[in-house]
Formats: sequence, structure tokens, C-alpha cells
Amino acid sequence: MDQDALAEFAAQIRAEYEDLKAKNLKLNLTRGKPSAEQLDINNELLHLPGENFRTQDGTDVRNYGNLKGIIDIRQIWAELLGLPTELVYAGDSSSLNIMFDLISWSYIFGNNDSPRPWMDEEKIKWICPVPGYDRHFTITEHFGFEMITVPMLDDGPDMDAVRELALDPLVKGMWTVPVFGNPTGVTFSEQICRELAEMETGAPDFRIVWDNAYAVHTLGEEFPEVHNVIKMADAAGNPNRFWFMSSTSKITFAGSGVAFFASSPENLAWYVSHASVRGIGPNKLNQLAHAQHFGTAEGVRAIMRKHAASVAPKFDAVLDILDERLGGQGVATWTRPEGGYFISLDVVDGTAARVVELAKNAGIALTEAGSSFPLHQDPNNRNLRLAPTLPPKEEVEVAMDGVATCVLLAAVEKLGA
Ligand code: PMP
Repeated sequence: MDQDALAEFAAQIRAEYEDLKAKNLKLNLTRGKPSAEQLDINNELLHLPGENFRTQDGTDVRNYGNLKGIIDIRQIWAELLGLPTELVYAGDSSSLNIMFDLISWSYIFGNNDSPRPWMDEEKIKWICPVPGYDRHFTITEHFGFEMITVPMLDDGPDMDAVRELALDPLVKGMWTVPVFGNPTGVTFSEQICRELAEMETGAPDFRIVWDNAYAVHTLGEEFPEVHNVIKMADAAGNPNRFWFMSSTSKITFAGSGVAFFASSPENLAWYVSHASVRGIGPNKLNQLAHAQHFGTAEGVRAIMRKHAASVAPKFDAVLDILDERLGGQGVATWTRPEGGYFISLDVVDGTAARVVELAKNAGIALTEAGSSFPLHQDPNNRNLRLAPTLPPKEEVEVAMDGVATCVLLAAVEKLGA
């Protein structure tokens, strides 16, 4: 665009923005929560387990005990994740709680490969692929770890950077969301899974938090292959490398589902040594209700197809509007996830916070700029996380059209037009 064309374009976008503000919208694209329509898919759960309160091995779920979780739900989840049942434990409702515990216990006591508790190290460093899940970063921030970012590429984290960082003995671990990652939607390739399992690390007690929160959250027909990284790591002589997480939070009810922890036998024994002090056993009644509701691994997939039918049209709406309004303008790039809960949008460098501000002033709540980075610091001030699942599709469309206007306005402002 020459100066005149740019001035004309800027005037047009400013007028559009004034029209947008005049609509007095009150829309929200912030947290990735399931919609009411998605929650309704699982209403049967509200009536389970009914009078049938025994597991397949005869355990009465109304009583204390069984720290590993009931066999019925562990079997279903093991099949879904392609892991041996004996390596998959079922807990209470939050995988994030288990992740917090794992880090907390490593900090206080050390893990099963630690020469000393992590709190006695001069410093702890942690690898954080970015953009990533904000609540992961909040945990490592809480414990005062130094978070070192590595870029997320199309098939996983930048492995050259990861391999080099992992050689530092003060680097004790790494966050990952290996399938339909939050917020990029990126799924790690088999090659990257293998490299993470095989790479050399400076710390003997290095751990990768393998947060498979979206393992089955496809938006299409196909379910991604879940790679058995525990087996890969074992074969490479690093049996205890992965802490593998999963949960039903975005399959059944968010916040009252079942969380899973899978790992090597040694890691599981270490987990039990602390978890058995923290409590007597998980909520087995909820686990049985879930096992009855799902029936089989295929039952879980059938539920995920219903979620996809509800969520995919919203993702399509966002992508259509981005293509239509911002495509070919050179002001933004975005991911096209085939699953998960988020779309990651990169706007003109230095303008992400301004886009959020403009949107807020027009009644559209976006997740704060920088949220997908440790300490909320996006060095390029360019990344935004879009969460289209919660509002109805019509609202998603209105909100995204407004966001596109804000992206363009922030871009012309930056150009001084
Ligand atoms: N991991 C990731 C990557 C997530 O996006 C979320 C939910 N936003 C969670 C974990 C939270 O899981 P839970 O409800 O099991 O604690």
C-alpha cells in the first residue's frame, strides 16, 4: 500500500471499529471451557453409579482404599492411551493437582532418581515450549524455577534447543502437551517423541511432564496415535523419564471428572510413597460412574465424536473469519488445529496487548496478551490465544469479526496511519 491507500484503509478500519463499539457487545473468548451443549452430552453421569456400587473385581466403591484407582476405569484408559493397565493409575478429578504434587514432592523430598531434594539445588531450571499452557508455567513460577523457553515448531518443540538445554544438570524437567497442544494445536511427531525419550540429560532425575490432556480431542473423524513414550524411554535406558498425565475434564464434566497418572513402575512406587501419606484413596464412586458411562474405550471415542460435532463448526467459523478478514494482509498468522481447545493467533509484533485492549473497549474479552508464556512475558508481544468452545457459534462469529477489526486497527496504528 502507498501512503494514500494506507490512509484510506486506516480510515475505513477506524470507522469499522466505531461501528463495533456502537454494538455494545458483551462477548467472551477467554478460557477454554466446554459449552453447556457439550456438558449435556454426559448428563447420564448425574445418575451413575446408581445402585450398582461394585467394581468388576467386587470392590465396594463406597468405602476407603485403593490408591491406584479402580480397575474398571484404569483398563479403559490404558486401552485408550495404548499403555499397560498396571502402569495407569486413576485419581481424583484434576490432573493439574497431580502435576502440582509431583513437582512439590520432588522439591521437598526429591524424586526417585534425585541425589537430593530439588530445594537443596543451587537453582532449578525448567524447559518451557512456547506458546504453552499458562497453568503449567504458573506451577513452575510458584516454586521459583527459572523457566527457559524454546519455540514450538509444527511437529513439536525445537529439539536442537531442547537437547542442548537438557545437558545442564540444573535443568530438571520440561512441560509438554504432546497432542493438540494448548494453545497451538500442535501434535508431536513420533520422531520428536522418540528424541525426547532418548536424549541425554545432565540431571539424573530429569522429568518430562507429558500432559496428554487432549489425547482424544479430535475435531475430525480420525483419532491421533498415542505414542507409548514410557516404552520408548525404557528401551533407551531412561525408564523414569516421563510423568504421563491425562484426564476426563474436557470429555465429561470439567472439574469433576477423573484424572490419570501413568509412568514407570519405579515412578509409580515413588508416587504412592507420598500419595498414600497425603490421602487414603481417590473418589472411586466417581471413577465407577465414569467407567459405567463410557463402557469401553470405544465408548469414550463415541463421546468425543459428539464433542467434535459441537466444537468443530466453531473452529471452522473462527478460521473462516480469519481467512476472510486477515488472509493475505500480512498482519497475522494462525494455527489450524485438528483437535484440542485453542487457536493460536500471532499478530503484528508489538501489538498483541493493544489488540486485547481494543477488543475489551468494544466489549470482547480476550485472554491477556502474553498468557501463553512464562511470567506472562511474550518477548514479541504478538501472541493471542483464542478459545472458541464456550460461546454459541453465532457469538463466536460476531466476536471474531470484531477481533479481526482490532488486529487491523492495531496494525495500522503501528504503521502510524
Ligand atoms: N492440561 C492442559 C494442557 C489443559 O489445557 C488443562 C485444562 N485447561 C488441564 C491440564 C487441566 O486438567 P485437569 O482438569 O485434569 O486438572
